[in-house]
Amino acid sequence: MTVRRLIIIGSGSAGLTAAIYAARANLSPLLFEGPLIGGQLSLTTLVENYPGFPDGIMGPELMELTKRQALRFGTEILSKFVTRCDFSRHPFRVWSDEELFEAETIIIATGASSRMLGLPAERQLLGHGLSTCATCDGYFFRGKEIVVVGGGDSAMEESTFLTKFASKVSVVHRRDKLRASKIMQERAFKNPKIEFIWDTVVEDIFDPAKEKVTAVKLKNVKTDAVTEKKCEGVFVAIGHEPSTKLFQGQIELDPKGYIVTQEKTATSVKGVFACGDCVDHIYKQAVTAAGMGCMAAMDAEKFLEANAPH
Ligand code: NAP
Repeated sequence: MTVRRLIIIGSGSAGLTAAIYAARANLSPLLFEGPLIGGQLSLTTLVENYPGFPDGIMGPELMELTKRQALRFGTEILSKFVTRCDFSRHPFRVWSDEELFEAETIIIATGASSRMLGLPAERQLLGHGLSTCATCDGYFFRGKEIVVVGGGDSAMEESTFLTKFASKVSVVHRRDKLRASKIMQERAFKNPKIEFIWDTVVEDIFDPAKEKVTAVKLKNVKTDAVTEKKCEGVFVAIGHEPSTKLFQGQIELDPKGYIVTQEKTATSVKGVFACGDCVDHIYKQAVTAAGMGCMAAMDAEKFLEANAPH
């Protein structure tokens, strides 16, 4: 079996940028696209904060261009998932179902996904008035009424940020107490543009047929009262889940499942590197993921020079 110099797991901004750098360093990387080809940007519409595109660019197009760039320099891309891995011995082993692949270094770039409410309308309206990222999409909601779902720090941060654009922000939370830190709560409570709707869940979002958000159906969990609230945007801010189940027991994860990196992009296993949203629960931006992807490729190259020179 050919032992690869580098296997990259994941095809979002982090994985593909790592591939561009690694391929240009002659590491002939093999990249597994995984279940969500192009990562979270492939689920978005217009991206206006990625440098180099003054008029914005559609998320899927940005990822297609990045993929072409990775292919141009010799990345081999497999439309397969990694289903199992063994980092306990060198060379490292990964499997896609029964098929085994071996490599001297690994870059994990499996990303994270936003927790969703689980409503059918959510998928249909994502990028059409429904968003999971205020930093990315707040700008599109100038002068509009918005609903933010959640009661944690993310929901408070996003609500406060969104008041720069929105005429009104209604925070819908399923309990009568916030989970957010006191300082973030106080900031939100003081903001005259933010109102709170307590003990309430979103039961539906209208109107997929019109391809835009027009209202939400709310249910008070204490009284069972059902109401409809007009709005033009919904931000779901109920947390993120890193896509790292595959690596449990192989590398160190923090209590929330994010990969722990000690120095730069190095994980707890020498020769295994990690980048992007599977590591980062703070910035979560395409451009920061891309930056970390570049770092991981350079760290892997340095590791190979020192430990497995060709
Ligand atoms: P989080 O702390 O897990 O809060 C998630 C919120 O969403 C909770 O209020 C939860 O309600 C609610 N929720 C979860 N599932 C739901 C569902 N299916 N339907 C309705 N509501 C649901 O997540 P987060 O706010 O993203 O924060 C994650 C971590 O990042 C935290 O450690 C946080 O402190 C940190 N963070 C820090 C900052 C900052 O300091 N600037 C900013 C953002 C995030 P319950 O309260 O009822 O469980």
